Amino acid sequence: MENLLQCSKTLYDHDLSEKTKQLRKYQLKMQINNWQEWENKVTKMFINLKNKLDDIIDEISELFNYDTMAIDNVVNCNIIYIIKNCLYSLTKNKEWSEHMAYFHFGLGIEGFLHGLMNTIDINDIFEPQDIINMIYKNIKYQLQYDKDPCILSPDYIILEFKCSKCKNISDYVNDNNHCFNCENDEII
Ligand SMILES: [Zn+2]
Repeated sequence: MENLLQCSKTLYDHDLSEKTKQLRKYQLKMQINNWQEWENKVTKMFINLKNKLDDIIDEISELFNYDTMAIDNVVNCNIIYIIKNCLYSLTKNKEWSEHMAYFHFGLGIEGFLHGLMNTIDINDIFEPQDIINMIYKNIKYQLQYDKDPCILSPDYIILEFKCSKCKNISDYVNDNNHCFNCENDEII
């Protein structure tokens, strides 16, 4: 019995370590000057995302012809492409942006739209703009919600700041843009 427990724990630890390795593979390190700069970049990306989704209102209107094939088209030909470009404009990393757009959003948004259209008659309740707003909120939630692991969390993006005092690179700075060591020196 003890051997069995040990074996199962070893297998579990191995599985966990493999999964952590896979996750780390897609962690991106980004150098940024301060939190304000990061928040500005993220805000700009969300405005761009909403504008680009508003631009595909004709494609979204196809969904109102009871055409479920249109879901796969609009997700794979338009929405994923928009997400990929928005993530690229934020990170300037093509491989990471492509991976996140294709593997983390495609199936989720398709599932959401299929579920919606198989449950209600969207013509009775919604306008194309409502569907765009829902897709936007779905994407925004997956990018930035208050629990890990959302896409803009340290599970996928590690922010590195330059301390304004000692100029060292650190994954932590306070409101004055001072790293942990400089902050501690100030307290003492
Ligand atoms: Zn410092």
